[in-house]
Formats: sequence, structure tokens, C-alpha cells
Amino acid sequence: MARTRILGVGFDDTDLEETSEKAMELIAERRAAFIVTPNPEIVMICGKNERIRAAVNGADIVLPDGIGIMLGARILGAPLKQRLPGIDFAETLIGRVSLKGECKLFLLGAKPGVAELAAARLESRYEGLRTVGIFDGYFSDDSKIKEKISETEPDIILVCLGSPKQELWMSENAGKFSAGVMIGLGGSLDVYSGNVKRAPPVWRRLGLEWLYRLLREPRRIKRAVLLPVYIVRVCSARLRGKNDAG
Ligand code: UDP
Repeated sequence: MARTRILGVGFDDTDLEETSEKAMELIAERRAAFIVTPNPEIVMICGKNERIRAAVNGADIVLPDGIGIMLGARILGAPLKQRLPGIDFAETLIGRVSLKGECKLFLLGAKPGVAELAAARLESRYEGLRTVGIFDGYFSDDSKIKEKISETEPDIILVCLGSPKQELWMSENAGKFSAGVMIGLGGSLDVYSGNVKRAPPVWRRLGLEWLYRLLREPRRIKRAVLLPVYIVRVCSARLRGKNDAG
């Protein structure tokens, strides 16, 4: 599938149905494929670091996570079909796989204790869901994590280490296990666990989830200021006629 490029990062122009289908196929292939969900901040990081950019562009699926990506594509004259927040996509996929029988889930990331809470809450929502491995995201040696993945062969691995750590970890480990898909999901375990509240639906519909997070966690301001810089860069790429959306 052709990708829509925004400042050097290629996004899949797809919708929830098509992406879920593709992810189900990847799970069946058992080659530990990986899915990334970049926001403008990660696109900016990719602009500065070739290794991170290669990791992101090397993913099997690249989802437009957030309003900034949708806006960027529109400015470049190549609007994307649908905004697909990683946290919603992952839960849809877990639901679908669980319905088919059993879904083996592996959780990697967040502070100690958080993923256990997330697992309990997710398992209570999906009957066929079974968590086969849990590790927090503050490790210095990942050999035990890899051993456990090899032993349990999960269908879905949520890799929630923050960016770019999670993208680099997935890129390095893709193809190395007999597992389904790995999905890089940032702070989603904090949300699944109930420790962090997501923006109410009306904020999300208006594309203001980033503002809600900023108001609740003002220390995110350092990251939020990247957003206008990103928009300026996209506009300047468009004006220079360097249509990066090709
Ligand atoms: N994290 C981690 N290991 C690290 C650094 C961060 O597991 O070495 C976790 C952190 O606890 C949090 C998530 O990664 O749960 C990053 O969350 P953030 O809100 O920054 O990500 P976003 O959703 O904004 O991408």
C-alpha cells in the first residue's frame, strides 16, 4: 500500500476496518510484525534522527494517531481517510481476536504494577482474552522479556515504552519471535489501567485530546510546543513545492 509522506514519515491511508483486517493477517503470519502510531512529536524526532525514522518507516502498519497528522496531510494536499488513535485501534483488535476464540496478550511497559491493573481490566471486558506475560518498562536487560515472548507466543504485544524507545525496540525485535503483532502505544497502559483518564468523547471528536492531556499534565508543555513548529514545517514544505505527501 502506498504511504502518504509527512516530513519523511510514511502513513497508511486507511480506515479502521481495513487496518484491522490487515492486522489479523499479520497475526496469522506469526512473524512478530509491528505497528507504530506516530504523532507530530515523533515525526519531528524522525526528522532529526535517521535511525528512528528508519525504524518508524520500517513498520508493517503506520497509523495516523491524532489530529496533527490529519492536518499535516491536508496541508500537503493529500488528506488521509481516517484518524486512528493507537489506543482505540489496539482495543478493537484485542476484541476481534478474542471473539475468534483465545487472544494471548503480552504487556510490556509503564511503571511497575500498572500493566497488571491494565491486564485485569482488559480481561474483564473480553472473555477470550488471556494475558500471558507482563513486564514493566524500566528494564536494563531485556533478555527475560524476550525469553518469555518466545515461550508464550502471544498474538498481540503492547509495547508501551514511550517514543522513540518503543519504536526502536520493536524494529530491533521484529521477525525474531513466533508472535503476532507488536503495537507501540506510548502511555496507553496508564489509561487501560484506569490510572490516567482519557479526554471525554466530545474533546476527542473535536481533535482536542492533546489539549486535554496538556491541561491535566502541564509538564507536557515542552512537548506541546513542538506542535506549532511541526505545522510551520509542513506549511513550508508545501510552499517550497516540495510536496512531501507523495
Ligand atoms: N515508559 C516506560 N519506560 C521508559 C520510559 C517510559 O515504560 O523507559 C512508559 C511510561 O511509564 C509511560 C509511557 O512509557 O507509561 C509513555 O507515556 P507518554 O504519556 O509519554 O506517551 P504518549 O502516549 O504521549 O506517547
